[in-house]
Amino acid sequence: MKTLSKGMKLVVASHNPGKVWEINQLIQPYGLDAVSAGELGLSEPEETETTFAGNARLKAVAAAEGSGLLALADDSGLEVECLDGAPGIYSARWAGPAKDFGVAMKKVADEISACHGWTAEGPRANFISVLCLAWPGGEVELFEGKVFGHLVWPARGGNGFGYDPMFVPDGDTRTFGEMEPKEKYAISHRTRAFAAFKAAMLDGIAPTAAKVRRGRDVDAFAAAAASLSTRVEAAAFVARLKDDLITHGAEWNNTTLESFLGALARELERAPSKDEPAWRQITKAMLAASDD
Ligand code: IMP
Repeated sequence: MKTLSKGMKLVVASHNPGKVWEINQLIQPYGLDAVSAGELGLSEPEETETTFAGNARLKAVAAAEGSGLLALADDSGLEVECLDGAPGIYSARWAGPAKDFGVAMKKVADEISACHGWTAEGPRANFISVLCLAWPGGEVELFEGKVFGHLVWPARGGNGFGYDPMFVPDGDTRTFGEMEPKEKYAISHRTRAFAAFKAAMLDGIAPTAAKVRRGRDVDAFAAAAASLSTRVEAAAFVARLKDDLITHGAEWNNTTLESFLGALARELERAPSKDEPAWRQITKAMLAASDD
């Protein structure tokens, strides 16, 4: 198996800034540097394979070939046992062109009703994430992470994204949508796939000293902003930002309404990213305005 070493540049084969941010968090302590496929002007291949591993591989190989660099891609989704693994690789597509996960969750709930799957314990389901690392020469390594649990309906909680508000992980009674972002990240399928990747590829590299974390968890806010896409998620984010001002206001740079709005205006004047949902751009600007 080929190994990674400090100073290597890695393309994250995604145009989703949330994913690029998450991957950067993971690899930066190891002296690796991530750029996104979007930044390099690489186009996104169509996900034509029939498995998560197939689609992760297809994206990673296309990015490695297009850039001549090492590339990392992931493919993830929700699998419901009584629906034979659906929505599976179609998890994003069930939300339609408007990426409305209210619609997608209702479709899952309706399909479960149609096959009488709403048992007392709730239908079994899992999230899955497959990471693929591809070298320009064509060699690949795959890493998988899963989190098991059951589904509830109606959905509960405004945190997270996608199907989070209807998924209760084993060992808890709350949905991912009711958990704080860092509680979800501690056990999520993506974290577990990253852990497998880290154990196989990064553990030989000594990490640089971790940044001293301030009382304010800016990283968790950045992760939440980078992955949200709906009005409900944005509202929950803004409510958490307000609580953070109360508890950690001393660490904010702009604590008066005047200075915060001034900074927010400057952030919003920056060139918009056409790939990002508007609510995500606005919440990221709000976070930046509190911290600039
Ligand atoms: P992709 O990996 O970008 O193709 O997207 C997979 C889809 O799976 C997302 O759009 C979400 O709908 C769903 N999904 C993946 N991970 C999660 C998660 O952690 N929470 C909720 N939904 C998820």
